[in-house]
Amino acid sequence: MGQQVLITGGAGFIGSHLADQLLERGHRVRVLDSLAAQVHGDAGERPAYLHDDVQLMRGDVTAHADVRRALRDVDAVYHLAALVGVGQSMYQIEAYTRVNEVGTATLLEAIVEQGGVGRLVVASSMSVYGEGRYVDETGRVARNVSRDVDAMRRGQWEPVDGDGRALQPAPTPEEKPAELASVYALSKYAQERLALIVGHAYGIPTVALRFFNAYGPRQALSNPYTGVLAIFASRLLNGRPPIVYEDGRQLRDFVSVHDVARACAAALEADAAAGEVINIGSGQPRTVLEVADRLAAVLGRSDVKPHLSGQYRVGDIRHCYADVERARRLLGYEPRMSFDDGLAELAQWVARQGAQDHVEQAHGELNTRGLTV
Ligand code: NAD
Repeated sequence: MGQQVLITGGAGFIGSHLADQLLERGHRVRVLDSLAAQVHGDAGERPAYLHDDVQLMRGDVTAHADVRRALRDVDAVYHLAALVGVGQSMYQIEAYTRVNEVGTATLLEAIVEQGGVGRLVVASSMSVYGEGRYVDETGRVARNVSRDVDAMRRGQWEPVDGDGRALQPAPTPEEKPAELASVYALSKYAQERLALIVGHAYGIPTVALRFFNAYGPRQALSNPYTGVLAIFASRLLNGRPPIVYEDGRQLRDFVSVHDVARACAAALEADAAAGEVINIGSGQPRTVLEVADRLAAVLGRSDVKPHLSGQYRVGDIRHCYADVERARRLLGYEPRMSFDDGLAELAQWVARQGAQDHVEQAHGELNTRGLTV
């Protein structure tokens, strides 16, 4: 028989896809979501894409009463509610700490109060790694990897090790120590640790999934602080060039939201995953410039060339892509969506949306605060 599942933040991008998959597997899905204006617009209406069978409770993850109500008779919880902008977290410090950290604490307290749940899955992020893993020319894992702001001013973007030697990026495994370079990253790490510590203490099987760059339909085009592909797409639709930081050769791991949702669904029942931190990515490194060009092509806007800003955002990393071996082993995870198919699907969806573009404003907010170099 299916379980009663609660997804916090389940009206959002990843949560709504997860809801579809859980319903398909015969579970009942309740969502607790504040319908944050930055994601859902000022009207705060139930998103049209949210499956009709989802029971939506509008409420705030930092409000004890809302959380208690949402938890009633729940077998399992996915905690996805969060503010998700790295750049924005550097000036909305209080809001990011409150929603992401205090929100998680509030949820955990309520779960403990009601005697636990059968499973807790918490959304963490690749941002906790800071820079990804690098190896030196002998293949040894590099230590003290860093980038020098003066070198970046001269256009030298690649990080070096403690002795100033050149390095190669490598897949990032979960053992890589966290290096927290933004308020957002700190808050995701706190969410992950809080959930694992409390889960361990109370015998609640808890899994922390570190998502890489998820992309696909339903990602808020109105939110200039989230997915780079959604941002590029809304710029291109307006005939405006995507703004690419640095020289565009930084590597990221773009993973289809369908693969992310499948991994989340698998984490509900995989016994071996309890107590673990697991990367969810595609395992395929791609440069930001490549994805900008390919997206322009699928949107039929190859005439609009990306704008290379040559700027560095404070806290930004150079390269990070996932080692997904642990997800394969513990969740039976295999990324299925090819990048071409994923881009085509994204393009189709974006073309149906009203074009929105708040990127100049967001870029301006970072500039005026001295958060770009
Ligand atoms: P999203 O913004 O689409 O979804 C988040 C949802 O949380 C939204 O519907 C929003 O209304 C809701 N929310 C915000 N504040 C809330 C509050 N105080 N109470 C209740 N609900 C609230 O973002 P997403 O991309 O679907 O991200 C989901 C989770 O995955 C987040 O925890 C995010 O940090 C994590 N994550 C996402 C990515 C990615 O690439 N999208 C990567 C790493 C981690």
